[in-house]
Amino acid sequence: MTSTNKAAKGAVKGVYSFGNGTAQGDASLKNLLGGKGANLAEMSNLGLPVPPGFTITTDVCTAYYDNDRRYPPGLREDVEAALAHVGVEVGKTFGDAKNPLLVSVRSGARASMPGMMDTVLNLGLNDETVVGLAALSGDERFAYDSYRRFIQMYSNVVMEMEHHAFEEILDGFKDEHEFFLDTDLKASHWKEVIRQYKAKVEDVLGKPFPQSPDEQLWGAIGAVFGSWRNDRSETYRRLHNIPESWGTAVNVQAMVFGNMGETSATGVAFTRNPSTGENAFYGEFLINAQGEDVVAGIRTPQPLTRSAREELGASLEDAPSMEEALPDAYAELTGVFDKLETHYRDMQDIEFTIQAGKLWMLQTRNGKRTAPAALKIAVELCEEGLISEEEAVQRVEPESLDQLLHPSLDPDAPRDLLVAGLPASPGAASGEVVFYSDEAERLSQEGRKVILVRVETSPEDIHGMHAAAGIVTARGGMTSHAAVVARGMGRPCVCGAGDLKIERDAYEFSVAGRTVRKGDMITVDGGTGQVFLGEVATIQPRLSGDFAKLMGWADRTRKMAVRANADTPHDVQVARDFGAEGVGLCRTEHMFFEAERIVAVREMILAESEEGRKTALSKLLPMQRSDFEGIFRVMKGLPVTVRLLDPPLHEFLPHSQNEIEEVANASGMDAKKLQARAQKLQEFNPMLGHRGCRLGVSYPEIYSMQGRAIIEAACAIAQETGEPVIPEIMIPLVATEKELALLRTQINEIAQTVIAERGVSLDYLIGTMIELPRAALTADKVAQYADFFSFGTNDLTQTTFGLSRDDSASFLPDYLRHKIFERDPFVSIDTDGVGALVAMGCEKGRQTRPDLKLGICGEHGGDPDSIRFVQSLGLDYVSCSPYRVPIARLAAAQAQLSSQKQA
Ligand code: PEP
Ligand code: MG
Repeated sequence: MTSTNKAAKGAVKGVYSFGNGTAQGDASLKNLLGGKGANLAEMSNLGLPVPPGFTITTDVCTAYYDNDRRYPPGLREDVEAALAHVGVEVGKTFGDAKNPLLVSVRSGARASMPGMMDTVLNLGLNDETVVGLAALSGDERFAYDSYRRFIQMYSNVVMEMEHHAFEEILDGFKDEHEFFLDTDLKASHWKEVIRQYKAKVEDVLGKPFPQSPDEQLWGAIGAVFGSWRNDRSETYRRLHNIPESWGTAVNVQAMVFGNMGETSATGVAFTRNPSTGENAFYGEFLINAQGEDVVAGIRTPQPLTRSAREELGASLEDAPSMEEALPDAYAELTGVFDKLETHYRDMQDIEFTIQAGKLWMLQTRNGKRTAPAALKIAVELCEEGLISEEEAVQRVEPESLDQLLHPSLDPDAPRDLLVAGLPASPGAASGEVVFYSDEAERLSQEGRKVILVRVETSPEDIHGMHAAAGIVTARGGMTSHAAVVARGMGRPCVCGAGDLKIERDAYEFSVAGRTVRKGDMITVDGGTGQVFLGEVATIQPRLSGDFAKLMGWADRTRKMAVRANADTPHDVQVARDFGAEGVGLCRTEHMFFEAERIVAVREMILAESEEGRKTALSKLLPMQRSDFEGIFRVMKGLPVTVRLLDPPLHEFLPHSQNEIEEVANASGMDAKKLQARAQKLQEFNPMLGHRGCRLGVSYPEIYSMQGRAIIEAACAIAQETGEPVIPEIMIPLVATEKELALLRTQINEIAQTVIAERGVSLDYLIGTMIELPRAALTADKVAQYADFFSFGTNDLTQTTFGLSRDDSASFLPDYLRHKIFERDPFVSIDTDGVGALVAMGCEKGRQTRPDLKLGICGEHGGDPDSIRFVQSLGLDYVSCSPYRVPIARLAAAQAQLSSQKQA
């Protein structure tokens, strides 16, 4: 346990009180109190109106699991004392028949996990206290409505009964009495519903609904701790890399009621727009409702501000904004917004309740936001002087920039509007309609794009939402589960498309007389909230001025350069536009897959003699040269690393009879002989076979042709542009320094010949990839012949683990499930093993050659965690695919800032 305050009997302090202007904790205790508890304490300290309560710490949760689900000693006494204190603060007593204290019990982990864990409201109600609540509030209907909600929620969360058992009773009751809305039911009706609910509980569980408030409380606390390990929490943690060891806190807080009539309300608000980042209050509220009603999307909430109402086109009578309906409370709330944003120096996501005109704050936290919003908010907070440029750089998740690169609908593309809802999460996607999350997951694993269509989503749908290209719901607002989760995942999402009639058992939905079936194609535009029939063309996004500003700050901060892995002039241009400062890996074999070239390549590979190979190579030379010229031209004097041929041969061998004949025609060789030669070249283990520099050793003329093409192109472009061209020639798959020594000499010779022929002065480097463990282990020797090292961590991962790059996807999920791997080692570098080899390669390489240039060009070069790791080794650059260049620029800046902090 990490908490320090010792309470009586030597027990560790496990309970922290807050509310009414003071608190025992504060925001700095987030790890111990969870996000919600820490911020409730912080808001109390700020003097904001927070209903009194207490937090049971995450240490208690950890101890509970470590100790066979038993509470640590002293906890019961501490909870009793804290509860009594809450009672004193609000002038009520827990369990008192006349003046009962009611509480909410909520989870609150260190990282926010929206909707993943359990909450119980109105706890403390029973057959006696409900009478007291009715008398106190003067509203019998309210009291019995609260009691039935409590029974429903408690039975579900704590006693694990299905929701629908209660929904059936309520729906049946409403049908019988011809009621339509819950508000049609009076106190006497709720009493009857409650009778039926209790009978149902007894029937299903064989025991009555607990009447003892104490039993209720400990049941709820146990359920919240228990929910830390439920399936949906575990899935969420896995997707968001949240360690199980963190545990959750439990917050017990005096209830305030948003459902006490027309001057009561409950709402959720953001201090800035979480979708766009616009600096305007944004949120939703419901009059005469409890918090769960807003979040669960059961009723469609009203906007917070008048301007938002007007924008939605909602009428004042039907859906007045809070600004209009409750102006005093609204004014107080906006004051709280300002105070919180200035205090936390970030956009806040707030829950509040108004009980009989009085505002109460139930939660604040840094709000989740879309990538465009994160960017805009970070840039504007910096420009407003609330945060520094370095802080702004740290406020945007590098991975989330991916979302900014998402396509949107082509404005000129024809479209057929099906339905409109709320623009819950931006981006556009088309896919086949599916109605079930399991199906979404299954189809997406088959490589199909799907759109998940639901009445509403629940945390059980998280895997389906993750698998879907887009999400549509019929119910729920911008803060509903679907909206919050989709935004977090960067999935386009339209919520609250209320005109949809979904018949999921029939696998169809209908809208305005049209029916759409499972498998039909639809398109979601999460930016406008529209859903279209069929596939609508999309276009790539244009990046905003904020993007350029933040990237500029990142570039000023970072020390490592960012290059791109790009093989064609087009890709190199894309990379340049994204800010790449060179090419870190041009895979020359990728240039050979085009139809006219592959025949010449096959001819070269299958040639039986040096002469035959030279003839084929002479066909390839001009093609290679012009590719390199295109690349050098785009890169205008920036370094370009060209890797010599590294194909596992099987990728190039002809397979069909047709292909053999094509090569026979081109080369004049006999087709039968060719086939026999192709068979001879087949390998059992091509990735460990005749590839990389081994080809160069066997067939020196191949690398000579490539060396000539590179140097000729560099000379030509240097002459054309008058700017220096810096080719870096890279030899792949080197295991021993002798391979490199041999090939370096050969390439130097050809380079000198070409330079002499052309009569220009040109500098070039010759280096190697470090992608085999032996090369890393003997890097001091290898460095004798290398001007630079580039770590090929794809092959290095493959060969260090002995794990096939091509075949491991089928069983890697088992390794992740059993937590043998925390993450896929081909995505994020294994720092202990592969990383240790990279570290050794750097160290030994520098021993021999202190000025050795070091980079990484495996896929890890675009992974933020791996970038942080290689920053610690002092690499000169990372290289990644063009679309990841902005991610790498930002990640490199963040890596620099965190290394400065550690220093
Ligand atoms: C590597 O192995 O990391 C690498 C960059 O080369 P390739 O992926 O082409 O094998
Ligand atoms: Mg490789």
